[in-house]
Amino acid sequence: MRRKNNSSSILFLIIFGGIIGGVVYLYNSAMFERDVPKIEITQAQYWNLKEPIDISIEDASGIKWYEVKMISSEGEKVLKQEALLTPQKKLELKVEYPKMSYGIKDKNIKIVVTAVDSSKWDFFSGNTGTIEKSFIIDKKKPLVTLITNSYGIYKGGAALVIFKAKDENLNDMYVEVNKKKRFKVQPFYKEGYYVALVAWPVSSKKFDARIIVNDKAGNSARIHIPYYHKAKSYRTSKIKLSNRFLKGKIAELAYDFPETQGIEDSIEQFKIINEDVRAENEKLIHDITSKVSDKMISNFSIKPFYPLKNAAKVASFGDHRLYYYKNKKVSESYHLGLDLASVKMGKIRTQNYGMTVYAEENGIYGNLPIIHHGMGLYTIYGHCSSLRVVTGDSVKPNEQIANTGKSGYAMGDHLHFGVLVQGVEVRPEEWMDKDWIRLNITEVMKNAKKLIGRS
Ligand SMILES: [Zn+2]
Repeated sequence: MRRKNNSSSILFLIIFGGIIGGVVYLYNSAMFERDVPKIEITQAQYWNLKEPIDISIEDASGIKWYEVKMISSEGEKVLKQEALLTPQKKLELKVEYPKMSYGIKDKNIKIVVTAVDSSKWDFFSGNTGTIEKSFIIDKKKPLVTLITNSYGIYKGGAALVIFKAKDENLNDMYVEVNKKKRFKVQPFYKEGYYVALVAWPVSSKKFDARIIVNDKAGNSARIHIPYYHKAKSYRTSKIKLSNRFLKGKIAELAYDFPETQGIEDSIEQFKIINEDVRAENEKLIHDITSKVSDKMISNFSIKPFYPLKNAAKVASFGDHRLYYYKNKKVSESYHLGLDLASVKMGKIRTQNYGMTVYAEENGIYGNLPIIHHGMGLYTIYGHCSSLRVVTGDSVKPNEQIANTGKSGYAMGDHLHFGVLVQGVEVRPEEWMDKDWIRLNITEVMKNAKKLIGRS
């Protein structure tokens, strides 16, 4: 008897435990999960009605039904509703606005998303998730008007543009060149007006500049700037590398640069210095010279640059140099400044106000001060022997900033004078020419102020 009693209570315990276990199992299984579907609307709170709204819904047991509703003062409207035969764990929805309702007057609407999962929880009805998000409807494109621009632009040169831009929900604006480079704009003279210096990169055959203004709802306005394109040819020269040069200057530089450590071959050393080290040094220059202030600017008076007195030009801007060794082309590069030489350790002066943004050694450029003159216009002075400025120093017209030298990749004592517009090297000759400056910068700005003053 005792025995039988014992075994029946064991059986009871097994069955009871099984039921408890089963309930615990079901309670914790995906089938009975109690998490509501996770819904997300990623868009900002502005909507132009043209772009669809991106909605993502996620649930472990799968979504079996969802609905996207729009609520405005004009009533409720279902934008999308779907019952899924096969529940989905993740849905990425693109909800379009119905074309026939495009005439909506209400500027403030609400989007409500509801989703039900396929969990057996809540007496098999599933978990319901819902979120709502307010949107401001903005169907209007930003208003952009060209005020004035420099008449023409040379390949490798710079030009000015002044325009007006307006939008209730302005997001960003820039001048895009060749669908690639974006030039920042700076507020100009009166609220709602903007100015930018732009550049035609010397290595680009074609030039196309447009002003692009975007609002927060995704409306975009773009206008073409009608510069007259002026072709300019630059020299391509073949340079034969001599053993004297390779065993001299290149060996000396290779000894210094970390990139050429352990490289024995002279041609390989030259290639690394002329390509990799140059690219790195120019990237630093481009990064530093890409900055533009967002303060309003009214005056921008630039005098012609004349950095070195009684100097002779020893190399031009834009030279495409092809390097040969034993009749084989081994490397190439663009010379992106003007080389000037006078006496050893000649005094370098800048003719314009500016701020020293860099004054250190920079690889093949040697000791290099970089000066910002405002509006994204920068000048650089390479191969200096000594510097008279430090980063953060402001400079005045005719102040001495350095002495010429042959630091970096330079054969003799000279100055590498470079001008950059927002990180793009431009022809220094333009900024050394008082007539060019007057016609393309000073008068364009003066004219713009007159036009703006009248409005
Ligand atoms: Zn140079």
